[in-house]
Amino acid sequence: TTRDKKYKRILLKLSGEQLMGEEGFGIDPKVLDKMALEIGQLVGIGVQIGLVIGGGNLFRGAALNAAGLDRVTGDHMGMLATVMNALAMRDALERSNISCRVMSAIPMSGIVEHYDRRRAIRFLESGEVVIFSAGTGNPFFTTDSAACLRGIEVESDLVLKATKVDGVYSADPMKDPTATKYDRLSFDEVLDKKLGVMDLTAICLCREHDLPVRVFQMDKAGALLNIITGGTEGTLIEE
Ligand code: UDP
Repeated sequence: TTRDKKYKRILLKLSGEQLMGEEGFGIDPKVLDKMALEIGQLVGIGVQIGLVIGGGNLFRGAALNAAGLDRVTGDHMGMLATVMNALAMRDALERSNISCRVMSAIPMSGIVEHYDRRRAIRFLESGEVVIFSAGTGNPFFTTDSAACLRGIEVESDLVLKATKVDGVYSADPMKDPTATKYDRLSFDEVLDKKLGVMDLTAICLCREHDLPVRVFQMDKAGALLNIITGGTEGTLIEE
């Protein structure tokens, strides 16, 4: 493409559920291939990409806890799930000839490298996609918070949160036909209106460190590239 990029370094957050495609559980390699294609378009125009993938397609601590497991154990399982998703995504990216690294917040020698901020920045600068796995490494956090945390740490220009719908609505558009989409919101509005786009920790981190978030629909072909080149997909949340 000849279009110019508006953002140099981004942090893309995908939920685990986005990897499972039509299935109710697990990972659909066809979906990963599609995502690799979209990500490859950005790599092609020199955008530096950090990636955080959730684990909700496999395990969520809160759900395991509701089913009777200890919460912290459940959260550990959830974080391990994000590592599995990261490995699957690395595989898909590499099959598309996109260089990629997986770093884990929890040391896992022999499988992935341990998260190191300065090394991560060096990889990003050299054009490799860096997948930050195992969330923040702590229970009681989410991968949304991990995405915002890593986004701030590696000084990305924008957090891109991929969702099923094309932005933030006043109510759930799947349930309420009168729901309207916001083009722009402030962090305070997200908090005041209790919009539930991301958890409070994630929103507060971004507000505190002035890192804008754009919520958009990932399975809309070309949406990612459109945002990077200055288009107005979804909803922008900023100061
Ligand atoms: N998790 C955690 N600490 C973190 C990130 C994630 O304990 O810093 C656990 C938590 O149990 C969570 C699960 O990992 O439910 C999967 O992450 P998340 O629910 O954010 O995934 P997503 O909804 O994005 O697929």
